[in-house]
Amino acid sequence: MTSIQLKKLAKKYKDITVVNNLEFSVKQGEFFALLGENGAGKTTLISMLCGLLTPSSGDALVLGNSILTNIEKVKPQLNISPQETAIAPNLTVRENLEFIAGIYGISKNEAKIKTTEMIELFHLKEKEKAKAKTLSGGMQRRLSIAMGMITNPKIFFLDEPTLGLDVRSRRELWANLAKLKGKMTIILTTHYLEEAEALADRIVILQKGSLKGLGTVEELKQQTNTETFEDAFLAICDEEGQVYASFCNS
Ligand code: ATP
Repeated sequence: MTSIQLKKLAKKYKDITVVNNLEFSVKQGEFFALLGENGAGKTTLISMLCGLLTPSSGDALVLGNSILTNIEKVKPQLNISPQETAIAPNLTVRENLEFIAGIYGISKNEAKIKTTEMIELFHLKEKEKAKAKTLSGGMQRRLSIAMGMITNPKIFFLDEPTLGLDVRSRRELWANLAKLKGKMTIILTTHYLEEAEALADRIVILQKGSLKGLGTVEELKQQTNTETFEDAFLAICDEEGQVYASFCNS
């Protein structure tokens, strides 16, 4: 079953194209990574798929519904963990989770049960009663993702979830994300290639809004005749990358 299907989806600002006629599909339950250098159009694409931004042309079907005409219908089944964590600093970890569950119409009792589940899944037990602003950056990220997860979305967008985290926190978060595999469709944007390599079923590589590569890590390496995913990424991104990759390998 298809979760997301892009149909020549495009976004322009004046005459600058930042998402260029994209066409690809994401399967239900797939862990899908969006990669690309700064300004490639990843956040713009996610914003359109969530109904936060109107496309300039084209369309996309999200859970079978057009983002042009029917996005409100599917919004309750989507959630996004944005680049900036969206937590309330003066509420405790538990209060933040129960609050967001309430917004999504989950009953008080169920919200309590789900909050306990999330606190366990994301290893936040010892901080349950601490105000969110007192958590470390890594813990705040975990809370932010737990707040997206508690609504049990069919599609979960994760925009650079491990940005700025230290190696240990990043690895811990990967372990959490790996547990979600197959349970929902996950669209991950990241600059950490090893993160996409470790977690994603398939990867799309964008450059200046256009699709440059699509496939599994192995497929992308084969297509570019490279041995590491980093080399494949550089080779796909541009000619200079190809030169750079072969330079590094020599
Ligand atoms: P990063 O990895 O740096 O987060 P990204 O791949 O998410 O980048 P976007 O944030 O989608 O890229 O931006 C794509 C392009 O669109 C950039 O060149 C950006 O400057 C441009 N852009 C984004 N929003 C606007 C806007 N409101 N008006 C004009 N240009 C914009």
